[in-house]
Amino acid sequence: MMTTQTICCAYCNAKDKVRKHGKSKVGYQRYLCLECRRTFQVKYIYTGCVQKISSLDPA
Ligand SMILES: [Zn+2]
Repeated sequence: MMTTQTICCAYCNAKDKVRKHGKSKVGYQRYLCLECRRTFQVKYIYTGCVQKISSLDPA
């Protein structure tokens, strides 16, 4: 079953101001928030709105 995932900004939580912004070199989809003009990766979203972002590259 397909579910539409709403991407919200990892910084300001804006939902309708987020657009795709290419991919990172490791293949994660990047997004750009038009609200706060910051970019982030969906990996951050998948791991939840976590406070702990250990590093960009797990390896
Ligand atoms: Zn934002």
